[in-house]
Amino acid sequence: MRAKQKIAGICVLACLFTATTANAQEIIDADYSAAMISIMSEGEVPQEEPVQEMEQQNVQELAIQKESYTTDVLTVRALPGTEYEEVGKLAQYTKVNVIGVCDNGWSRVQMGSGTVGFVSNEYLSDIVPSGAQNIGESLGVFTVTYYCACEHCCGGWSGGPTASGAYPVADWTVAADPEVLPLGTHIYINGHEYCVEDTGSGVSGNHIDIYVNDHSVAVNNGVASAEVFASK
Ligand SMILES: [Zn+2]
Repeated sequence: MRAKQKIAGICVLACLFTATTANAQEIIDADYSAAMISIMSEGEVPQEEPVQEMEQQNVQELAIQKESYTTDVLTVRALPGTEYEEVGKLAQYTKVNVIGVCDNGWSRVQMGSGTVGFVSNEYLSDIVPSGAQNIGESLGVFTVTYYCACEHCCGGWSGGPTASGAYPVADWTVAADPEVLPLGTHIYINGHEYCVEDTGSGVSGNHIDIYVNDHSVAVNNGVASAEVFASK
């Protein structure tokens, strides 16, 4: 099986907030209600309810600077609460820069791509997860896409073994350009270890295609960019 997936287009997530690099102890008086209104699409009439909800929220935020790791896959939101728009996703064991702590149990984080959003503190840990211990030097920033064994992703190679001869394993097998990352190379992306076992006609240059079991997962994960690290 060979991944033949093409990149449809890299989705650039807009930052709703400028990253704050202010000194610690500074209270940010973020105008969340204004931010909420600004993310509504043009022509859309703001409904009364969500606006009132924002006005009532009145969250205070303390600017800080620290590194944390995600303990699970989690959704990054435009504002501090599960009811707000999703602006990105973080994989498990991803290192994030925490740049603000809200008094409602959420933190403002800056992702590797530079996107800023909010996540619940429940899924952040200051302790380096064991999965992140064997990470070596950076190999640069790669485009990351996902593929499965279906005909749409693999065409005539669907259901067969990978270019290495091994059958693909979800969250382990990745396809890469063999001139960039030879078959058998172990890499880390967001703290997770993968093995280059496959190649693909749509995978060239700094591009990693991660194998998943389900086509809907491949589609939903979309296109991202991530720093790829060698294994120690
Ligand atoms: Zn597929």
